[in-house]
Amino acid sequence: MIVVSGIAEYREARRKMNLSGPLVFVPTMGALHAGHGALISMARGLAGSAGAVVASIFVNPSQFGPNEDFHRYPRPFAADTALLNELGTDLLFAPDVSRMYPAGPAVVTVDPGPLADVLEGAIRPGHFRGVCTVVAKLLAIVTPDILILGRKDYQQQAVVKQMIQDLNFCTSLVVAPTVREPDGLAMSSRNRYLSADQRPRAAAIYQALQKGRDMVLTGRADTASLNALMTEHINRAGLTVDYALACDPDTLAPCAKYVECPVVLLAAARLGNTRLIDNLLIEK
Ligand code: AMP
Repeated sequence: MIVVSGIAEYREARRKMNLSGPLVFVPTMGALHAGHGALISMARGLAGSAGAVVASIFVNPSQFGPNEDFHRYPRPFAADTALLNELGTDLLFAPDVSRMYPAGPAVVTVDPGPLADVLEGAIRPGHFRGVCTVVAKLLAIVTPDILILGRKDYQQQAVVKQMIQDLNFCTSLVVAPTVREPDGLAMSSRNRYLSADQRPRAAAIYQALQKGRDMVLTGRADTASLNALMTEHINRAGLTVDYALACDPDTLAPCAKYVECPVVLLAAARLGNTRLIDNLLIEK
């Protein structure tokens, strides 16, 4: 695996690859786990032997709020590069902040539009502007044919999908399923913040989503009762719910009085200082 940190260096390495197959890109913030690993393996499959898998590791300051975990976000670079290498990544782009924002924060930024006003966007103002801006920059640098994002960050993939469509990026988006721990907790770099006491309780988020799914699949689910069921289950485990809502999978608008499929159940909750998100898409 080639590792580059500079933009010119990346472009030179990309040119030398002289590809006859697709370049498949997996952007990450590092602190990699099996969820990221699944995205890289999927990328390897899509790229084949004629294409290439490019990953990036960049903890993007502009998507963190002032009181969020930018400074303490884990950065186990040696372990991350070993995993990427093992899974068949061809090229890792790992810039530092001064390479991505040499003159300080970007002056021209991407307006993420109305999908970013709700849920995570309402709780983390500016988050999706930061996400869209860095993804736009990464797409301009990496120039991939295919971009892989995880469904774990449901709203993120929805916002980026809209950006790719509206700004005509020459990249197709592939969304990969969520990889979970054996008890159902969605894998996340932030899970390592959880104490031994907190860790088992974190599974309540996925349990709540499953209870919600059961309610949807057993018949005519009343939206308010469904949202209350999920919220109460998470609260009972001692987490603080930011939201637990049934929404339209495309517009992210909350369901009207009754839930109709397809629907996405989205939840965010805090456990001590750790904020966790998860979702479940129910297509029929
Ligand atoms: P992050 O490093 O958290 O920015 O995540 C990088 C990419 O990995 C994003 O597209 C995430 O949605 C995806 N991802 C993170 N956790 C998981 C997971 N448990 N399963 C599948 N994809 C994931």
